[in-house]
Amino acid sequence: MSKLVYFDYCAAILLLILLVSTIFRKMTKGRLNRLFLVMVAVSLIAVGADIWAINLDNMGVGNRTGKYITHVMYLFFHGLVPPLYIVYLVAQTDTWHRLYKSVWMKLLLLFPYGIVTMVMVLNFHFHNLFYLDAKDTYTRGPLFFILYISAVYYIIMGIIYLCKYRQLFSKRRFFALLSLFPLMVVAVVIQYFRPEYVVEMFAQVSALTFISMMVQRPEEIIDTTTGLGKFSAYTADMRRTFQNHKNIQIILINIINYQSLRDMLGYEGIDELLQKVAVLLEGINKSQHSNAELYYLGSGKFRFVIEESFFKRTELTAQTINEALKADFMLNGTEINLVSCVCVAKCPQDIQDVESLLAFGNDLNNQHYNGEVFYAAEIYKPDYYNLMKDINHILERAISEKKFEIYYQPIYSISEKRFNSAEALLRLKDEKYGFISPEIFIPAAEKSGSIHKIGHYVLEEVCRFISSEEFQRLNLDYIEVNLSVVQCMQSNLASEILKLLHQYKVQPSQINLEITETAASYAQKTMMKNLDCLTKAGIQFSLDDFGTGYSNMRRIASMPFHLIKLDKTFTNLEQNPKMRIVLENTIRMIKDMNMKIVAEGIETECLVRQFAELHCEYIQGYYYSRPIPRPEFVTFIEQAMEQG
Ligand code: C2E
Ligand code: MG
Ligand code: MG
Repeated sequence: MSKLVYFDYCAAILLLILLVSTIFRKMTKGRLNRLFLVMVAVSLIAVGADIWAINLDNMGVGNRTGKYITHVMYLFFHGLVPPLYIVYLVAQTDTWHRLYKSVWMKLLLLFPYGIVTMVMVLNFHFHNLFYLDAKDTYTRGPLFFILYISAVYYIIMGIIYLCKYRQLFSKRRFFALLSLFPLMVVAVVIQYFRPEYVVEMFAQVSALTFISMMVQRPEEIIDTTTGLGKFSAYTADMRRTFQNHKNIQIILINIINYQSLRDMLGYEGIDELLQKVAVLLEGINKSQHSNAELYYLGSGKFRFVIEESFFKRTELTAQTINEALKADFMLNGTEINLVSCVCVAKCPQDIQDVESLLAFGNDLNNQHYNGEVFYAAEIYKPDYYNLMKDINHILERAISEKKFEIYYQPIYSISEKRFNSAEALLRLKDEKYGFISPEIFIPAAEKSGSIHKIGHYVLEEVCRFISSEEFQRLNLDYIEVNLSVVQCMQSNLASEILKLLHQYKVQPSQINLEITETAASYAQKTMMKNLDCLTKAGIQFSLDDFGTGYSNMRRIASMPFHLIKLDKTFTNLEQNPKMRIVLENTIRMIKDMNMKIVAEGIETECLVRQFAELHCEYIQGYYYSRPIPRPEFVTFIEQAMEQG
């Protein structure tokens, strides 16, 4: 019986394509890729040995040693692929630590292949597996069935393992990983009954090709600039790690001055710089033997993920990275200085979920840079990140249960010696987290879109207050209402505000809308339309937090602001004497443009005096009053009026 070798030739061609494409697609880094590459290489050796063996068999009598060696090689390497595939599944499910720790799992994995190898060794003497008969023909021995039992064993083990971790995979990945098993079963059955059809390797290689196309996809996991794992791979890997309760340590590396470097170097330059940083980090990973998985998440954020058996290396690796990043990088003859923040986080001790890990990683940029390595154990605030995880839910509940409240902070007019206005500030008290700062919930509401409902609520409450009888008694000129940038970009904002004014019979001059400097910097078409329409209707605008952004004078001049609110940061006059000169000239310029000034965040009498001397018209701050609920605010103003 002569065997058909063509299936093996096809398998060999497929394997060569796989090998070359895997290397060219740079899918060689990381445990998963290495394992896949090992499977391809082992399959290639098995196919090579099989082709050789079949050709020798088909030549007929003679060359006994060659036949014997090639058949043993084929059986050995062919039988190695199923256990390797189980190891690959372990890596896919990120349950390596379980295999590593459990003797039972190792035994279960190695036992059948161990038996097969033993029988193979003993076959030299006993010829139980196969032998060459009198005509030098390859003939199966009485224990040949062990190979099939081993194959069936691994097939069942693989299916059970995959099903157990089903929830870790998308449908596409799950079925691609499963494909090896039915293909193997069909091939084994065919080859068992019709040994001349040598299809087992072809089936195995077809499944590997399928997996390569569906699972080993570089565009999904590799960042093309740095060659490191990308953001989606990081989140998927970390999600799996947390689900499997695996211990890891992460070195988070954020290049804090990434934005300015990108502006300075341009897209090509920054890519070159990132490549240099990636090479440096890979070098440190090698020299420190920390065996970490490396990721680049974008915006100058790199991550080193270290497994338990290499925890000893974490500390030194973090220190080495921190020092190495302080050195200058040469780029086209220019010295580039990185400002980077390096932080070690132990998971799950410090951080217990992916969302908090990502948020913490982003917030690292706001850490006060001191050149030292940070530790999440010292700077991570779990309450804050738990709140951030819950924030959308909290906002929805607050809207539906009407839990928001408006507080008012009085604003004092120096020339008129009375409180002439107030700022409406939103407050949210949650049962679980207590008072939540608007600095936290406003940005979250902007992201989720709930700011529109919240903004409407604030405007309506303020209009209701202005139209009330008690407001008439207070002799206030207007109430200032904060507008968020997202609200300004809402096309029906102007009509909505005018409708509310009409509904509550509020004069446009009784409302003053505050826009922050950063919001004003967008100066987008819809926003300008809104501003224009509202200004024409008689509503005045203030520029809030002036001094915190770029403080662009041209923008101030081109937008219809009536008031400029100097940010709290201007109150640190003692700390920097030059600041006073900046302030004096800024105030003069603003006044020359016919705008009035509110000094915000004034906490002391001394500051009131200083800002009065600088001819600021209005003062707002804790010195007079904190933001207070409406009834207290009414009493506060009434008492102030009585005291004259
Ligand atoms: P903002 O508009 O600049 O409001 C002034 C902030 O400074 C308020 O913080 C106020 O409590 C605080 N403040 C006032 N006087 C002093 C002082 O003497 N010392 C210090 N240290 N702080 C003082 P708050 O209420 O936490 O609000 C923070 C920010 O949240 C506001 O800054 C505003 O941008 C935003 N916000 C508040 N309510 C609303 C709202 O209804 N809508 C929108 N879009 N944003 C709001
Ligand atoms: Mg404000
Ligand atoms: Mg402000």
